[in-house]
Formats: sequence, structure tokens, C-alpha cells
Amino acid sequence: MKRAMTVFYEVDGSIYVNLTNRCNNNCEFCIRKNGDGAYGSDPLWLKREPTEAEALAMLEELDLSQYRELVFCGYGEPSVRLELCQKIASAARELCPKIKTRINTNGMSDLCFGENTAPKYANYFDTVSISLNAPNATKYDEICHPVYKLSAFPAILSFAQNVKNYVHNTVFTVVGDLLSDGEICECRKIAEELGIPLRVRSYIAPEN
Ligand code: SF4
Repeated sequence: MKRAMTVFYEVDGSIYVNLTNRCNNNCEFCIRKNGDGAYGSDPLWLKREPTEAEALAMLEELDLSQYRELVFCGYGEPSVRLELCQKIASAARELCPKIKTRINTNGMSDLCFGENTAPKYANYFDTVSISLNAPNATKYDEICHPVYKLSAFPAILSFAQNVKNYVHNTVFTVVGDLLSDGEICECRKIAEELGIPLRVRSYIAPEN
């Protein structure tokens, strides 16, 4: 039976968590512009966000031992519900100590909460994957349309620099198709300067 709301969905041997559709960006390349789901999932648009009790109850129904990783990704920016992400990550580790946890984030939780949020990632996530997306604030604004405008990009760099002190496996990603070779080189330079690995990924084309 299909759930009225898809909060957990499988992708390539991992279990993904969709807690919110809210986001402080409106990226040109957002997978949400291409359809209703991701990687063959049921629709990920939420009529309402799951409560903490609902999300934890759904988690407990899963056999986490069959998954490599629990990934906070969503159909929105997971860090807008950072506290719930922490609770689910803790509960998942209690249920299945070997499971790895990752949060895929746009890196704007400092701006969202008005504080240094990096310490809140410690002990909950094995990996923090930050979408760098651009080599500078102007380009970031052009392709991601953040509500924080030109303040977004420097805040992302600051967050990344801080969070890697708490989560060793902090990585950057960019969508290579949207950037010139020169811009990708600039992104690599930024990543190197911050000591954070960069993964250049492909644009996820619309499903027909
Ligand atoms: S940050 Fe992520 S969820 Fe938000 S618009 Fe960009 S790609 Fe979509």
C-alpha cells in the first residue's frame, strides 16, 4: 500500500528521508522542477510535513540493516528541520548502529537560524554534503536564486569551513553542466583552500 506521504524512499541501496518541501533556494537545476519524485520514488510533494512522532514511527517500521546509508535529502532543504534530522539520525543509529548518516544541504542553516549551526551537525551525521554550486556570490544568485541574495554564498563558505571541524567527512558538490570549465576550476580552488573535497556531478534530466 502506498503512503499518503512519502517520507522515506529507497535510492540505490540507501534510504532517503523527505521531511520538508521548504527551501530557501529556487535552483534552476532543482530536481523538483522535473517531476513529482526522485529516482523513481513515489511523489515527494508533502501535503503537510510529518510530525516528529510520525517520522519516528515510520523509521521504526524500516529494516535499516538492509541499507548502506540514511540520507537527509528530501524534496526541499532538510536543514530547515535540523532538529528533527538530528532526532531521526540518533534514532536510526540506536536501531542500527552500523548505518551511516548523511545530510545533503545547501549550507544555509546559519542564515536560516541566525547562529553558528555547525556544532549541531556533530555526532549526528557521518557526512555533510554541501551544494557549492558556483564559484562566487553573483553566479550563485544567478543559478540558485537564494532568498538571502548575495549573502548566501559567503555564508555557505563560512558554514562549510566550520562544519568540517565537527564532521570530518564534509564534501562539496557542483552541477558541472551549469558551469564553464573555468568556473569549475574556481570551485576546485575554493574547495582546496577550505580543505574540502569537491564532487562534480551531472544535471539530473527530466524523466519522460
Ligand atoms: S537547494 Fe536543493 S531543494 Fe532547494 S531549490 Fe536548490 S536543489 Fe532544490
